[in-house]
Amino acid sequence: MDWDEFADWGRRVADYGAGYHRELRDRPVRPDVKPGSVLGQLPKAPPEEGCSMTSILEDFDRIVMPGITHWQHPRFFAYFPANAAPPSMLAEMLVAQIAPQCMLWQTSPAATELETRMIDWLRQAVGLPHGFHGVIQDSASSATLTAMLVMREKVLGWKGNAEGLSEQRRVRIYCSDQVHTSVDRAAWISGIGQDNLIRIPTVAGDPKRPMDVAALRAQIRSDRADGYLPAGIVGATGGTSMGACDRIWELAEVAGSQGLYLHVDAAWAGAAMICRSFRELWRGVEKADSVVFNPHKWLGAQFDCSAHFVRDPDALRQTLAIRPEYLRSHAHAEVTDYSEWTIPLGRRFRALKLWFLLRYYGLEQLRQMVRNHVTWSRALARRLEGEPDFEIVTQPVLSLFTFRHRGDDAHNLKLLEQINADGRIYLTQTRVDGRLAIRFQAGAFAMTGEDAETAFYTITGMARIMR
Ligand SMILES: *Cc1c(COP(=O)(O)O)cnc(C)c1O
Repeated sequence: MDWDEFADWGRRVADYGAGYHRELRDRPVRPDVKPGSVLGQLPKAPPEEGCSMTSILEDFDRIVMPGITHWQHPRFFAYFPANAAPPSMLAEMLVAQIAPQCMLWQTSPAATELETRMIDWLRQAVGLPHGFHGVIQDSASSATLTAMLVMREKVLGWKGNAEGLSEQRRVRIYCSDQVHTSVDRAAWISGIGQDNLIRIPTVAGDPKRPMDVAALRAQIRSDRADGYLPAGIVGATGGTSMGACDRIWELAEVAGSQGLYLHVDAAWAGAAMICRSFRELWRGVEKADSVVFNPHKWLGAQFDCSAHFVRDPDALRQTLAIRPEYLRSHAHAEVTDYSEWTIPLGRRFRALKLWFLLRYYGLEQLRQMVRNHVTWSRALARRLEGEPDFEIVTQPVLSLFTFRHRGDDAHNLKLLEQINADGRIYLTQTRVDGRLAIRFQAGAFAMTGEDAETAFYTITGMARIMR
């Protein structure tokens, strides 16, 4: 392909994208496809001869698009958002075209230095104090894994040797039952093991379901007495199921007095901290050792972009850095090589979309979006609560709440399926105290107040039909 053709197709692809977004509101959020239907349309063997872009793009429209779940749909209320704001898309288009590798400073100096500045902009935006440094990880799962590796290394005395390997079975990490499954995976992958990830009960009666710190202290005490090595605590700000929030200030106190490393997972809720009024949810976060939030969820810097803040980058580097000769960049002792802060060596240029996003909207427009989502979600919860057969199971934490319709789990699952088959909105489910509950979160970049109306009428309308 020559560059004139590239320019021509580039314009057509951009036009296709704009058209898609203009009409997105009219599409069902979730596709109506049977498992295997896309696979069945793809030739079993790779092509020997090339073909034209015209036919590739036709097939894309015909085969791929009907099987896409529309995450940018204004009425995507499932899971958490994976917002891609238009300026962020433009940045990603540029990144795709320049295609740099950003593992070391010298493999793309501008990418490294932009990353340093963007992480610091984000630090200020969410109100973390000076002294936090950071890196853009591919995902919160990776940030949590690296934090857990640091916990392990610190408590074992920085030895990735045989002695360390046998001792790691004594390492213990503490969290509540509300943390994301990425915490379990981090425990498996780090070699600490599921058995050493200790679930501390949550405070009964507190709707935010914070970890019971008295139980945490007692567990640490008895673990030490039994010869275990308490290493760290993973706190949640905005758990995935229902938005649970630990009392970070209490966890920080325990971590401080016990010499444990505190990692806070605010993958979703962290974005809301650009609004000062929501920061009470993670009070004490300034005392954490490690904090992660995903600009690729609510904020609009498209996947993937996870901001990982740490107070002591040396601890991260001591855990992960490895310097064979071919990666040594002689003569630049003062530069940052971010691949020493992350597990993969190769790194995408993720800072550019943050730069575009933050400059285009400014924090104030992003704050307004977050505040709107929270307002609309709370209003919807109030309205559903006022309906005779609906019950709010967990009250809104930011823009996330859960509800049930009168009836058993099977009835609620059926209602959920009917709502999603209708196509106007998309919701998912969770379990709260063993019972099925339907989740609602408002967070789509393109959402308006009218979309919340549509959610109300769809939910109540489908429930009426089912009676
Ligand atoms: C989404 C989410 C994660 C996982 O994020 P990835 O970036 O997909 O790894 C972890 N924790 C919480 C609380 C989340 O909401």
